[in-house]
Amino acid sequence: MTVSSAALYIHIPFCISKCHYCDFFSRGGSNSVPDSYVEALCQEIRGRAKKFSVKEWGSVYIGGGTPSLLNARQIKQILSAIKEAAVLPESSEVTIELNPDDITENLLETLNESRINRISVGIQSFNDKALSFCHRRADPGKNEEALSLIQKKWKKRFSIDLICGLPFESEESFMSGLEKIVSFNPDHISMYSLTFEDETPFGKLLNQKKIEYDYDFSDALWLKGREFLENHGFYQYEVSNFSKKGFESLHNLCYWNHKSYLGCGSGATGTVYNEEGSAFRFTNTTNIEKYIKNPLASFTSEEIDVKTSVLEFFMMGLRKISGVSEKDFYNSFGKKLTIPDSVKKLAEAWERKDLCKITENEDDYSFTLGKEGILYLNRFIFELLDLELE
Ligand code: SF4
Repeated sequence: MTVSSAALYIHIPFCISKCHYCDFFSRGGSNSVPDSYVEALCQEIRGRAKKFSVKEWGSVYIGGGTPSLLNARQIKQILSAIKEAAVLPESSEVTIELNPDDITENLLETLNESRINRISVGIQSFNDKALSFCHRRADPGKNEEALSLIQKKWKKRFSIDLICGLPFESEESFMSGLEKIVSFNPDHISMYSLTFEDETPFGKLLNQKKIEYDYDFSDALWLKGREFLENHGFYQYEVSNFSKKGFESLHNLCYWNHKSYLGCGSGATGTVYNEEGSAFRFTNTTNIEKYIKNPLASFTSEEIDVKTSVLEFFMMGLRKISGVSEKDFYNSFGKKLTIPDSVKKLAEAWERKDLCKITENEDDYSFTLGKEGILYLNRFIFELLDLELE
């Protein structure tokens, strides 16, 4: 299988401390990233690009974990390996996630001078109690300091992550936090609803009934937040993502648009599609020592058949406010397949409930759940799972 243009995700699975809501793979208690890990990562980037004959990187995303634990030399080393492995066009988006607690003038200078053209900063909240209850490293003061520094020193694109409905967050604190965020003029904001994953400290507290959670309050807060962002120049283009026009996350759009991506680093996943839409998916080991010893051989893999891939096309594509189209489907699955009639009928049923919008003309057929229907995306997927998709 080959892929001439691919998105590249790089995983840095190290964090100083673990946040209590987080289920991303990372090792807490790490103050830095071992050189041996960076070397293994570079080896994997070159090896994967060669194996799949990647000619150019459409986008790069350095996520974690905490990529801001990388030092300047390591960042340079990773970017060199990326450029050595395949062409990195000027127009390609290159993002790195930063923890506000790590943001310094020096770090921003290093990044300004590098090929990285977008930073994504995990602010999460401006409520002191909420942040300390989740064991975030940065408090509201540190969050504000980091954003002020970005405003003064950072010259390129920037995105902010926040979580809606953390314990102790009130409507007042959440909305004033949003006002503060918008005042720093990011071009992109990801506003996630808090989820309780079973294996996280928050999930355990909830399952053991040691904390209570008001889902209705949290949903109402999210809707208020959306309204606020829309009144302040941002538009929702995905379930949890808002941007100014033209500043959407191109890397994440690859996932939602059913495009090939390579994942490098311990715990990372990659999916490479062929012309018929079936795919090869690999997932690297979460055993960091094993990964370092043999970064190109420590993974499991699976073949994704066309039926599963069709389902994933809708599950991911309908996350976008623009929805999915016959043309996109055709591009993903080749000439033989069209959007199944069963799916079109489901879309029609949802349109009758005002939760879907179908557009049909001689050129294309498309449908979207739109801003209202997208709130019920899981229900739509549930109904989709019952259908005959071939
Ligand atoms: S939220 Fe980020 S900093 Fe916190 S544990 Fe997860 S990956 Fe680490």
